[in-house]
Amino acid sequence: MNIKILGCHGSDSLTHEGGQEHCCRSIGFLVNDSLMIDAGTVSSALNLESQKRIRHIVLTHAHIDHLKELPSLADNLISCTTNPITVASIPQVLGDLKAHIFNDVIFPDFFALPDTEHPILRTEVLHEGQESQLGDVRLTPISVNHLVPTVGLIIRDQHVAWVLSGDTHQTEALWHAAAQVPNLKAAFIETSLPDEMSDLALAS
Ligand SMILES: [Zn+2]
Repeated sequence: MNIKILGCHGSDSLTHEGGQEHCCRSIGFLVNDSLMIDAGTVSSALNLESQKRIRHIVLTHAHIDHLKELPSLADNLISCTTNPITVASIPQVLGDLKAHIFNDVIFPDFFALPDTEHPILRTEVLHEGQESQLGDVRLTPISVNHLVPTVGLIIRDQHVAWVLSGDTHQTEALWHAAAQVPNLKAAFIETSLPDEMSDLALAS
């Protein structure tokens, strides 16, 4: 399995004014060139040909740093693909995405554009604790401890597995589930704030 980290921060910034190198980018993991886990960084880190290869986007939760380039991706691809891109998550996250982003106020409803028969985006519901096949990998969402409905993910193919915590404070179910997975090779764990900022960590 090939994993590219397009971004792993809660914000975006350039290293040098006027340069192109970033010292941080919002969350986005590209798996096997065709599946994104979170979409905080997707369009700005990939050229159009690479964006066209994305067929599935899995969202851990609805915070903006995890989804803010999904509107850009839809806008970039609407004229160059006829197959909808699947946006998969638990029901609460998909509901928030439609209510607060693709609501024809903040951004057009790309789940119904260019027309309802052939939208650029379609949803797929993931169920907590149940494994789903998306492209060439299988994912199991496990609820974690965050301010909004959020899942960590166990991702596997026939050879290897890895676990992504998503945004979480102390949590247990994800680690118990991951411990049962054969061939678990890596754990990507959120570490947004250092111990000396634990008050902010608890508040946020
Ligand atoms: Zn969050």
